[in-house]
Amino acid sequence: MRTERLYNDDPYLTEFHAEVVEILPYEDKCGIVLNRTAFYPAGGGQPYDMGYINDKKIYEVIEKDGELLHIIDEQLSSSEVIGYVDWGRRFDFMQQHTGQHILSACFEKLFNGSTDSFHMGKDIVSIEINIGSFSISDAERIENMANDIIYSNLPVITRVVTGEEIRSLPLRKMPTVTENIRIVAIRDVDYSPCGGTHVRTTGEVGMIKIKSWEKCKGGIRFAFVCGNRAIKDYSKGNSIIQTLCEKFSVRDSEIVGAIDKMLLDLKNTERQLNNVTHELIKSEAANIIREQPTAGGIRIIKRIYESRNINDIKLLAQYLTQTPGTIALLACKNDNAQVIFARSEDINIDMNGIFKAVLPVIDGKGGGNSRTAQGGGVRADRLEEFMNNAGDMIISK
Ligand SMILES: [Zn+2]
Repeated sequence: MRTERLYNDDPYLTEFHAEVVEILPYEDKCGIVLNRTAFYPAGGGQPYDMGYINDKKIYEVIEKDGELLHIIDEQLSSSEVIGYVDWGRRFDFMQQHTGQHILSACFEKLFNGSTDSFHMGKDIVSIEINIGSFSISDAERIENMANDIIYSNLPVITRVVTGEEIRSLPLRKMPTVTENIRIVAIRDVDYSPCGGTHVRTTGEVGMIKIKSWEKCKGGIRFAFVCGNRAIKDYSKGNSIIQTLCEKFSVRDSEIVGAIDKMLLDLKNTERQLNNVTHELIKSEAANIIREQPTAGGIRIIKRIYESRNINDIKLLAQYLTQTPGTIALLACKNDNAQVIFARSEDINIDMNGIFKAVLPVIDGKGGGNSRTAQGGGVRADRLEEFMNNAGDMIISK
């Protein structure tokens, strides 16, 4: 490794001078190797830093074949460079990462739950904890303990220890490397091997808030936010609540009750509307029956409706065929065709057979039984032909 990693000793360093050691091709871009860097490469659950080398934007910082590569678009014009770390992004990661140490330590202390994995995304940070169950009151206990550690403003000390020393420390987890073991220590709280960047004191984490949890393969996965992310998250949530309060003209403590009441009102209104619709369609059916003459003891009712709800049409077919000697061939013409055939109980005609026989006219699909059949087709323009064919078949039977 030819690159001195400045972020190990000083994670607050945002500007540094360096020399270009080599430029390696990386996909369609350049991978710059520097003699020293303050840019953290992706690793240990923490994403890479961004920023600039001279005036060239860094897209990614990665470790590849033992080299630390700063990925930029094009060649640099000079071998002496200045690096500028995007401090907003870095400090956010430092807050989340240190917060994760605190949170993992609290899970260990309160629930004997070990941390199986840690992932820091752009919006959400998650950890998987090896425990069986978790409740809202558990979340309060964990958050109280974690935030008390933050308010205590304890030093976060990072140092490289020897193999001998390692055995004397109360480590939360064992190191995955055997030399240059870096320990992040918060006295009486947490001792963990870690290569990431952390804040100087727990106070800088600001606050920790658990957002949600769900079962996962090895236990429970928690989503949480720290520091500025927590404040942004609070602002977002608060703005949603304020908007709802304005819409419902209530205080925030009354908003859940107001929504419950609205849902109940909506349910009652739907029930009433349903009753009215039934009554209307029943009376529509009675009118049609009254006006439609019978031929040979049978009345065939053929109707094509434009832009009408298919459920209403089904209901109409049901009411119509409650009158003996009635066959209903009803269709809805929207962008495509929806059709229902039905007959009263006393008529001995296979409606499904007729339906299937004429379906190709509208390029349709569907089916049913001997009393009713329904379906749809794409050729709404041929609905009249479809209905006439079906009517002719019924008359011939
Ligand atoms: Zn760490």
